[in-house]
Parts: sequence; structure tokens; C-alpha cells
Amino acid sequence: MHRKLVVANWKMHGSLTANRQLLEEYIQRLKSLKNVDVVVCVPYPYLAQAQSLLQETSIAWGAQNLSKDKVGAFTGEVSASMLRDFGATHVIIGHSERATAYCESDENIATKFMQAKAHGLTPILCVGETLIEREAGVMEMVVAKQIDTIISMYGASLFANTVVSYEPIWAIGTGLAATPDQAQSMHEFIRGRIAACDQEAANSLKILYGGSVNPQNAVQLFVMQDIDGGLIGRCSLIAEEFEGICRAAN
Ligand code: PEP
Repeated sequence: MHRKLVVANWKMHGSLTANRQLLEEYIQRLKSLKNVDVVVCVPYPYLAQAQSLLQETSIAWGAQNLSKDKVGAFTGEVSASMLRDFGATHVIIGHSERATAYCESDENIATKFMQAKAHGLTPILCVGETLIEREAGVMEMVVAKQIDTIISMYGASLFANTVVSYEPIWAIGTGLAATPDQAQSMHEFIRGRIAACDQEAANSLKILYGGSVNPQNAVQLFVMQDIDGGLIGRCSLIAEEFEGICRAAN
């Protein structure tokens, strides 16, 4: 089992005032937890604020997306090296809310994953199936395709020391989390898929579960063999709930 990692995904929430209050609460509530790594992924404009408030703490910060390109005429995009300039250590890639709303292809997501790694950021690759795909029994096929695109474009070794977050789309923001067995089974499948090409990379990979995690279900989810922590949306906006999840991981 790996040391657990809990990642807050604030999505498009926050303001300078609200963030300060929330981050100060995070710092107070989480400072005694020594056996869990915590990262907060903020909207781009608040990276500087996260850096200034968190730099003397054990909480790391990151972003929710990045450009697939290094530099150039790409209006509105933000590069990996720009994220590094603000001390970001992690970046979420391919979140289903983006993949759906902005038509991100598996190939673009794979290139973003490579860019993040090439610039010393830890990518957090989101994968997962829709409810229709689960009901049709093709969820492993769907997740395999997302993973295999990266393997075929860049090789399985790119997964070394990175993070994959299994996020069934039907569980995100719905209050209906996957059961620990459903999540464990997919996590085992993901690790096995990568291990088949590169055992070492698979061993070093952390696999998070995301989708309606709360302090109650976190306890059962986090004891599963291949669940190395969580990616947390709604509950990361409420300091007490987020603390409960981090405590379960700790
Ligand atoms: C997410 O957006 O990655 C997520 C898991 O959200 P929630 O925890 O609200 O389901």
C-alpha cells in the first residue's frame, strides 16, 4: 500500500476572500495529520494566493488543467512551466467535466500528461465511464482505451510516479459513490493494465478514487488494497468535511 494522497478539486469555485478563509482552515485542521499527503487544485488566478498561504505548510497546490503545448500563440492557454512558476506540484488532466464540455480527445489528454511530466509536475489523470457504459458492462474497455492512448503514444514508463484518478462519471457530484468493491476492482484493473507493460511504473503509480467521497464513505474506500487516496470535489469546499476525509486517509 502507498502513502495516501488526498487532492482537493475546487473546480470553478472561490474568491480571494473565501479562499483565504478556507485555506487557513485547511492549515489549522490538517496540521496534525502526518501520514497523508494533501494537494489543493485551485483555479489558475488563485495559484499565487495558494503559493503565498501554503508555502510554509505541508499542503501542496496545483491546477486543474494545462496546455498541451509548451509555449506560443495559444490564446487563453496556460503552460506547464507557468504552473511551475507558481510552485504548483500537481495538475489534474482530463477531468470528465472538461473532456465533455471542451471536447478533449484522449490524444490531447495524453499530450498534456506528457507535458506535465516533462516539466516536473505530477499529472493526475482522470479516467472513468458513464452510467450507460457501466450498465452495458464495457467500463473496463472504456478505461483501458484512456490508459492505452498514453501507453501507445509515450510508453508505459511515463506512468512512473504519477497519479491516476478513477472517477466514474455517474458518481461525480451525484452523491452516489462507487462501492469500495466496484472501485477496488477498477483500480486493480488499471494497475494491472500498466503492469502488463511496465511493472515498476505500475508499482510507483498512485490510484485515487473520485466521485462523491465524503468523510463516511472515505473510511471504507481507503482501506481497499489499490485505493491510494481520493480526488475530492464538493467536500473539499467545506473544511470540516475535507478534514474528515483527510483523517480517514491518515
Ligand atoms: C470531482 O470533481 O473530481 C469530484 C470527485 O467531485 P465530487 O467529489 O463532488 O463528486
